[in-house]
Amino acid sequence: MDITTTTTTTTTTTTTSRPRLVLLPYPLQGHINPMLQLANILHSKGFAITILHTHFNAPDPSNHPHFNFMPIPGVAEENLPVSSTDNLIRLMHYLNDSCLQPIQGCLEQLLSEVAGVACLITDAQWFAVQTIADGLKLPRIVNWTSSVSAFLSFAAVPLLRQMGFFRPLSGDEMKSEELILGVEPLRVRDVSRFLTSDPEGASELMELMVQGMKPAQAIIWNTFKELEEFQLPKLTRGFPNQHFLIGPFHKYFPTLSSSLLTQDRTCMSWLDKQEPNSVLYVSFGSLAGVEESEFLEIAWGLANSNQPFLWVVRPGSVKGSEWLEPLPDGFLETIVKGRGYIVKWAPQEKVLAHRSTGGFWTHNGWNSTLESICEGVPMICSPSFADQIPHARNVSDVWKIGVELKNGFERGEIESAIKTLMVDKKGLETRDRIKNLKEKVNLCLKKGGSSYSSLEDLTNYILSC
Ligand code: UDP
Repeated sequence: MDITTTTTTTTTTTTTSRPRLVLLPYPLQGHINPMLQLANILHSKGFAITILHTHFNAPDPSNHPHFNFMPIPGVAEENLPVSSTDNLIRLMHYLNDSCLQPIQGCLEQLLSEVAGVACLITDAQWFAVQTIADGLKLPRIVNWTSSVSAFLSFAAVPLLRQMGFFRPLSGDEMKSEELILGVEPLRVRDVSRFLTSDPEGASELMELMVQGMKPAQAIIWNTFKELEEFQLPKLTRGFPNQHFLIGPFHKYFPTLSSSLLTQDRTCMSWLDKQEPNSVLYVSFGSLAGVEESEFLEIAWGLANSNQPFLWVVRPGSVKGSEWLEPLPDGFLETIVKGRGYIVKWAPQEKVLAHRSTGGFWTHNGWNSTLESICEGVPMICSPSFADQIPHARNVSDVWKIGVELKNGFERGEIESAIKTLMVDKKGLETRDRIKNLKEKVNLCLKKGGSSYSSLEDLTNYILSC
């Protein structure tokens, strides 16, 4: 098998005395970012790193010259079902199926050529890889790239099934604020979005991921103790693995980039010209899409709010359009009169850290949620599916650091949520609360802090594997 790497061949690693870790990221933006951040963290702790990756959405080795990269051979990119979020379920099955043998081949070759491979760290979405690791007697550690709350919601899927939620909800249920016992903070109204438009398919994968984590030696969490302390007793009761909460990963090396799309940096000089805390940053991540009618509601909500905004519209994210064609003529120049700026992809962490950014309208992907918390930027929540739903619940109702849009994309509600967050007294209180959390982030990463200590424990744990 040809395993020549883009930078160096794996055989070069035999010369190093550092214990080696093999990291297997799942090839989507929201998963690649935290895995490469983790790779850098562990490298700084003295480990040599091999990144085992698909050709599809491959990380750029030139951004990480201190790692070895090993492509998984034999998976034809043209067969990948990745054109929309509807295909995410098929993608996960496809990858766990078709990559299994090539991954086994890569690992066997690595183990035969390189001394001192300490363990394999995989994304939870590579649930089928546990069998290979067991066969090779290679300890597998899971990197869970979402929150503990989301994990526990996934683990509660059998309970939701028992409770009879796998059916279309009635009109009243779709509005019901009642919390579901054992699956808090989810409410009855949240269930259908949590389980997606394909409840059987989505829940099957959630269960496979959770089951795939049970035999793992340990789980690494991109979160911090102080944020999710209220969930930890339930986690350790149900899952007696070793747990290491060492996040937020992206704060360890803030200049690192693993963006698959080119970030448009012109928005930074536009932000420089705005008033402090005045700009609403709008982005729904790398996967979520909207209908054209929803896109127009978003546009009019932003226009009517009279608040400056920086809006990421990913090409292809508006169904049936290439980019901005559905916008009314003269939207930026005459309707919002220069108060808005639109880009295809932004340097999000930098945008959130900019003094002009005062709010983040987000889909509540875990990276986005955590990045917002780290910069003390309060949120407007528009989650679409799966883990985004518990995140939005925590943001709006548990941590109270954001406001939720309850009726999807509706211009009147959008305008009022923007005003609440950016101008009203309630928004100021929300801002104070998230600034407090930001302080907790800073403390947890300092010497003696919870994540700092957990990383020390993780390092020792891997060395003892
Ligand atoms: N991101 C970015 N530029 C953008 C929008 C998003 O760099 O214009 C990054 C963002 O910083 C985050 C990731 O893409 O790290 C998105 O991950 P998340 O978990 O929030 O959502 P997903 O894309 O997985 O739905």
